[in-house]
Amino acid sequence: MSNFSSLNRRKFLATAGAATGAVFLKGCLGNPPGSVPNAQSEASVPLVNVAVGDAPETTVVKLGYIPIVESAPLIIAKEKGFFNKYGMTGAEVSKQANWGAARDNVEIGAAAGGIDGGQWQMPMPHLISEGVITKGNRKVPMYVLAQLNTQGNGIAIAQKHAGKGIGLDVSGAADYIRGLKAAGTPFKAAYTFPKVNQDFWIRYWLAAGGINPDTDVNLLAVPAAQTVANMKTGTMDAFSTGDPWPYRIVGDGIGFVAALTSQIWPDHPEEYLAMRSDWVDKHPKATQAVLKAVMEAQQWCDDPANREELSQILAGRNYFNITAKILSEPYSGKYDLGDSKPQVNDVKESTLYWKDDRGSVSYPYKSHDLWFLTESVRWDFLPVSTLANAQTIIDKVNREDLWKEAAKSLGIAAADIPTSTSRGVEKFFDGVEFDPSKPEDYLKNLKIKKVKI
Ligand code: CA
Repeated sequence: MSNFSSLNRRKFLATAGAATGAVFLKGCLGNPPGSVPNAQSEASVPLVNVAVGDAPETTVVKLGYIPIVESAPLIIAKEKGFFNKYGMTGAEVSKQANWGAARDNVEIGAAAGGIDGGQWQMPMPHLISEGVITKGNRKVPMYVLAQLNTQGNGIAIAQKHAGKGIGLDVSGAADYIRGLKAAGTPFKAAYTFPKVNQDFWIRYWLAAGGINPDTDVNLLAVPAAQTVANMKTGTMDAFSTGDPWPYRIVGDGIGFVAALTSQIWPDHPEEYLAMRSDWVDKHPKATQAVLKAVMEAQQWCDDPANREELSQILAGRNYFNITAKILSEPYSGKYDLGDSKPQVNDVKESTLYWKDDRGSVSYPYKSHDLWFLTESVRWDFLPVSTLANAQTIIDKVNREDLWKEAAKSLGIAAADIPTSTSRGVEKFFDGVEFDPSKPEDYLKNLKIKKVKI
C-alpha cells in the first residue's frame, strides 16, 4: 500500500511539474452520499492522477450495491475520494433494495433512472447478458471487470438446531435433517437470490454432507432482513448470506454459524464488479478510471490499519446503518460461530479484497466464471449444452483484459498481475477438486447433482 501511494504521488508530482500537463476539471470533492454532484461548481480541483489524454469521457457513473461487506470497495472508492482521484467526480453508489431490484435497474440503465452496473453475485452478469433472468428474456450485455471480494459469507442455522452436529461437515446430522422432512416439518433454508452464489454455497455444503438440496430440504429465496426475522420467529431453519448477517445471528442469540464460506472453499470467488457493456464500450477511459478507483479502494480495504475505519464508514447511516462493532470483529477474522464450535480468529478467514493465499482477489479469473456455469449445470439451472458454449459466453462477458490494463496503469507489480486466465485446480473442504480444464469430470465425480451426465 505504501509503495502504491508513493507511486501515485510521484506520478502526480511529475504531472503537476509539467505545468501544462496538469489537468483541472470542475467538480467538488467529498460530496455527501446521495447528493447530486454539481458540475457547475466553481471550485477547480486538480485531479491527482489524470494525465493529459486520459480524462474520462464522462465524470458520472451510477453503481448499485447491496449493504453487505462485498460492496466495500465501491463505497470506499466513493468515500475516500478514489473515484474523484481518477476523474469520476460524479460517481454515485446507489443502495439496491435487493438483488432483483439491482437486476431490474441495470436492465433499465442509469440514463433511464436505473444503474450502469455495480456489485453482482455470480453468474448474474452472464445470466443478464444471455437474457436468462431479464424481463422478456431480453439480452442486456454486461462485462465483468473485477472481483470485489473473496470469503466473508456463511451459513447460519436457527438456534433450535444447536447440539445436532450441524457444522462444516454436516454428514453426521444428515439423518436428523432428512427426518425433519419425513416428520412434515422440512428444514427450510434461504438464500437472497436464486441460482447464484448463496444458493450455490448452501447447496454445495448440504450435498457434501450427503443431503440432497432438491429433495431432502426446502430451499427458497428470502430477502436478507426477512431471513433474520423469520429465524427469530422459528419459521426459517437456515440461510446463506454475507457478513455481517451470519455474525449478527450469533450475536443476537438467534442461531449459530454452521460454516464460513472460507472453510467450505478457501479463497473462493465471491462477488464482482460488472457493468453494462454499452456503457463500457462508450466510455473506455471512464471504465479505466472506475477500475483504478475500485482497485485502489480494494488495497485500502485490505490494509489492517484501515479496517476499523472501514467498519465505521460502512456502518454509517447512509450505508449499512448498523453498529460498527458488528463489522469490526468479522473484519479482524474473529468469528464466534456459536453451538460450542471453536472460535475462529484469523484475518485470513475474513473477507479479503485485494490479495489472498492464491494471489490476486481483484483479478477476475475466467476459470471462476466457468465454475459458476458448471455449478449451474450441476443443479440444472442451465442446460448441459452450456458447457460446450461456456468459453464463448465467458469470453464475451469477462473483460480481464481491461483489469490488466488498469493494473498496469496503476503500476501494480508484475508479480501481482496474473499471467493466466485460469487459477488452476480448486479444492473444496470435502476433498472434491474442480479442474477448469475438465469441468465434465468434476460433474461426473460429484455424488449428489441434478444433471444427468
Ligand atoms: Ca455474497
